[in-house]
This record gives sequence, structure tokens and C-alpha cells, in this order.
Amino acid sequence: MARYTGPSCKLCRREGKKLFLKGDRCLTDKCAVARRTTAPGQHGAGRKNVKEYGLQLREKQSARRYYGVQENQFKSYYVKADKKEGVTGENLLSILETRFDNIVYRMGLAASRKEARQLVRHAHFTLNGKKADIPSIICKVGDVIAVKDGSKSSEKIKALAEQMGTAVIPQWLEADRENLSAKVVALPKREDIDFPFEEQLIVELYSK
Ligand code: SF4
Repeated sequence: MARYTGPSCKLCRREGKKLFLKGDRCLTDKCAVARRTTAPGQHGAGRKNVKEYGLQLREKQSARRYYGVQENQFKSYYVKADKKEGVTGENLLSILETRFDNIVYRMGLAASRKEARQLVRHAHFTLNGKKADIPSIICKVGDVIAVKDGSKSSEKIKALAEQMGTAVIPQWLEADRENLSAKVVALPKREDIDFPFEEQLIVELYSK
């Protein structure tokens, strides 16, 4: 399935919540969800009676769009989460959080996950000292994510480094702001993830 290239704000309006897909704009009063609460389309305002399946589907779509993951890949993360010990929904969120592109975003080196994905694809980062340009890599405890030496002089990265200087970086990452790097020191727990997902609905959807 091809990656969605349409307007990001339409996705938030479809889910009826802010998915923070456009960086700083999401925090301003220009945010489309703040201005219009109805779903997009001719019948958007009429969609009110959502049944159980609809709720589960919307929650899955919200999480998938929040992290910018394709349908098949999301399902494969669910299968992996289900095989792990512990609570499946929490395992799923932990896997999504430890994606390479999400970590770059959490380090404060990108305004959105979309931008983080682009920076990774353009090979501005290393993983454990080696070139890594695949946004979907799932990082492990002990992995070190860093800006590539050759990229540190680029104007774009210099601006992002300033951003990292003031970013609130989650505790499961040990940030080295001087060297523009971070080490994964623990797997993220549910309380570390600041988005109000109802992950149990996603588990119910896939368990049918
Ligand atoms: Fe979503 Fe951000 Fe657009 Fe608001 S501004 S609708 S949060 S992408």
C-alpha cells in the first residue's frame, strides 16, 4: 500500500483529535482540529453513532497515523507485541516508540515524525556508529543514535541542534546534547508515552 501523501490535517480531522503531524503549527490556533471539529467530507458532520468496531478501528488508525506507519507494518508490530511477555497493547506502543524515526523525533531533532523520517532517509544519522537510513528499525536497549559527523556542519542540522538543546527528552533516552546523540537506556513504559491511546481497543480489533 502506497504511503499517504495528502493533507496531514485531514487525518487529524478524520480521527477527531490532534495527531501532531505538522510540528509547531499543531500548537497554534491554526490547527485544523482546533478550528473544525467535524470529520472531513460532505457527510463529516453527520458521523456520530460509532459502534464498537468503529471505535476499535479509529483507535488503530489514530495510532498508525500518529507514528506514520503503514497498515501491514503496523499489523506486524502487533504480532510481535502479542508474542512478547506482558500486556500486548503496552508492548505495541513500546515497539512503536522505539522506531528509529520516532527516537530522532523524541530527541528533539525534528519538528515532526515525518521530518524525522526524511532526515533518517537522507542518511544524517548513525546507529551504534554505523550508517543507518531505515526509519523503521526498532532500536534496543543499549543502542546509540547519533547525528553523522559529516552532517553536523549542515545548516539544517545546526538549526535542529538548537532545538534539541531545549527539548524535553524522555527518561528512557540518555541524551548527549553536545554530541547530538542519545542512548536507549530502557524500553519505554506506558507512562512514558504522553499520547492518550486506548491501546486495548487496538488489541480487541486484532483479536477478532
Ligand atoms: Fe493535526 Fe497538526 Fe494539522 Fe492540527 S495542525 S490538524 S494537530 S496536523
